[in-house]
Amino acid sequence: MKLYFEAEKFLKPTKKANGSLQSRIFNDKKLTNSPKHIFALVYSTIKYKEYIDALIRKSKIKQELQIKKVKASDELLALLIHDLLFSSKGRIQSGKHPIKDAFLSNKTRLQAEFTKLKLRYKVKSVQELPTKETDDDETPIRWFRINTIKIDPERFYTKHPFFKQLQPVSSLEEITGTGVIYSDDYIPNLFGVHPKEKITNTDAYKLGEIIIQDRASCFPSHILNSDPKDIHTKVIDACAAPGNKTTHAAAHLPSGTDSVVYAFERDPKRVQILKTMCEKATGKNKKKLIQITHADFTTTKPDDFAEVTGLVVDPSCSGSGIFGRALEDSYNEQESETIDTERLQKLAGFQFAIMKHALSFPSARKVVYSTCSVHVQENEKVVIDLLSDAEISKRGWKLATRDVVLPSWERRGFADEFVALSRDPEECEKLAGGCVRANPKEDGGIGFFAACFVRTVDDDEA
Ligand code: SAM
Repeated sequence: MKLYFEAEKFLKPTKKANGSLQSRIFNDKKLTNSPKHIFALVYSTIKYKEYIDALIRKSKIKQELQIKKVKASDELLALLIHDLLFSSKGRIQSGKHPIKDAFLSNKTRLQAEFTKLKLRYKVKSVQELPTKETDDDETPIRWFRINTIKIDPERFYTKHPFFKQLQPVSSLEEITGTGVIYSDDYIPNLFGVHPKEKITNTDAYKLGEIIIQDRASCFPSHILNSDPKDIHTKVIDACAAPGNKTTHAAAHLPSGTDSVVYAFERDPKRVQILKTMCEKATGKNKKKLIQITHADFTTTKPDDFAEVTGLVVDPSCSGSGIFGRALEDSYNEQESETIDTERLQKLAGFQFAIMKHALSFPSARKVVYSTCSVHVQENEKVVIDLLSDAEISKRGWKLATRDVVLPSWERRGFADEFVALSRDPEECEKLAGGCVRANPKEDGGIGFFAACFVRTVDDDEA
């Protein structure tokens, strides 16, 4: 029952929502159950909430519990009903508890109401019930990249015939169902399939030979390494967990024994996830490609990393570009505009501080900043603040020009925002060209922002 008691509070509408559902759960240091498990349970309960509420009403379970003098909140009941009727395991977590006993004494009644509900919707299984998530929150494309640390892209199809049987298509619009595969024009070795394609069942996925990663999330490590004349052998990932960008950056390292990505993660639970992902991606043989440190990146001493020339900085953000948010927001309707603005300002301050630290590494000549947020406060405005900082500009940092930042990607930063730096519209366009944006769904995946900072390193400083 502890799982349900821990999950209960995340189902309650909050007046002051401190971040997304996901961040609230993952940042809760008091949880004893896995945050991943709790998130999945709460998320799925929200997804089926309207059906669960109907079952609570129709089965009259609340009245039954009252008669037995057993107190259980609506949220707790919703979680129990979810696990009994809406989860694949179809049972409540083991362990004895008076609430569980009282609840299960209504099992037959609940099951009968559930059968009626399915008949009403003319469906045989839970998955067929129409939900908000399937309408609004599913990614239009499932993206995965070949993990070139483990597998030669040329050998990919021969090793994994599952992918060979998929029909190649030349545009995203053609991915209307399973059975087709699209090779991306922007990121090498990246492919798109229909979200219902069962790629997680493949050996390639289980062996870490392919990694599921949204296209836009591949931008930072690609931008850092896209210039063949500018090779980075020592790279830092400042905010690494769960490790998508770390493993992608490691895949770009030139072969050689001393190439390395130093990955920093300050959260103790997330650092474990990072370790697992990196071990899966590198295997035992190449594990030295990534060196993980459980630390706050801002406490690192730049002089200790005098050979680092490139950094990716993907700090915590509002996550407003990620799906599932609409669902959570509708559940948290009481969140007010003021709180939002305050929260964004706080995040922007923290993003600025991490970036400023990244831009102080003595030999760094390229730093890619990114967020999965659509808000200018966390994106262009942070870039403008960084460019306006005297110390940063003294060190020679500028925004890269479009020709080295995914030049063929159409959607760039918002040029209007850069009037804060220049009145010349051409200059604003130029600055916006050093940034890329991706709109959620419309651009085939999550909402995203990346900006690339470059400088010529003075030998003295390095
Ligand atoms: N780059 C990751 C990826 O692609 O898989 C996602 C990073 S997530 C947006 C941000 C991460 O940065 C979180 O795991 C958070 O705990 C971590 N973080 C936040 N502040 C940090 C800091 N000062 N030092 C190190 N890690 C930090």
